[in-house]
Amino acid sequence: MLSVHNLDVRYGQFRAVQGVSIEITQGDIVSLIGANGAGKSTFLKAIAGALPIYSGRVSFKDQDITDTSSSTRVQQGLSLVPEGRRLFSEMTVEENLLLGKTVQRQGDWDIERIFTTFPNLVKRRHSKTGSLSGGEQQATAIGRALMANPELLILDEVSLGLSPLVVDQVYASIESLRDAGTTILLVEQDLERAITFSQRAICMLEGRIVLDKLTADTHRDEITQAYFGLN
Ligand code: ATP
Repeated sequence: MLSVHNLDVRYGQFRAVQGVSIEITQGDIVSLIGANGAGKSTFLKAIAGALPIYSGRVSFKDQDITDTSSSTRVQQGLSLVPEGRRLFSEMTVEENLLLGKTVQRQGDWDIERIFTTFPNLVKRRHSKTGSLSGGEQQATAIGRALMANPELLILDEVSLGLSPLVVDQVYASIESLRDAGTTILLVEQDLERAITFSQRAICMLEGRIVLDKLTADTHRDEITQAYFGLN
């Protein structure tokens, strides 16, 4: 479904992502892990078209998307929930959700299904998102991405800044997406959660991939060592 070949992303002279290649097939649940500054967000943004690619190729459903805009990628079925949620704080939950809708993509997701999936948003439907709790904002951001009926959902640090209880609630919703067959690539700082949630873990260190393995076949120590660059 997603094929990334030899990707380089730079900030000026600095190579934040260096020669990264991955393959994601339909139905995969993949956690991208790595220490702060490893290049995870940069990698996700480049896949989603939110950052220019310096070199390498990205293809999605057998089409080369390396040079396409982020909105074109959303229309093709690739949606990113960015770190920090990026909601319009002066707009209501419903208005933010409707911004995610694209006429080009048909599918099962509509605004009522979002409210069924995230019941805590029902009472907040007409509230400005700036007044919501962190968990409600995160649910709105995920809901907005789902409105485009993505085939590949990319989530960047959904648990950032949320209390453990709220993180559990957000993950329960993502689990329902996973169980419904959505292909998911997510960045998760909590190693234990990443390993438990996903079938596969990809670990980045200083812009490169240092581990790409099925979680069931991999000892925790191997993942921890890759994370800290001890391999
Ligand atoms: P975190 O978990 O802290 O979000 P990360 O693994 O997502 O880390 P990135 O945010 O992708 O890492 O950052 C990778 C590297 O690129 C870091 O060294 C960071 O300082 C640098 N970087 C990120 N954004 C920019 C930018 N806009 N300009 C210059 N350097 C940047």
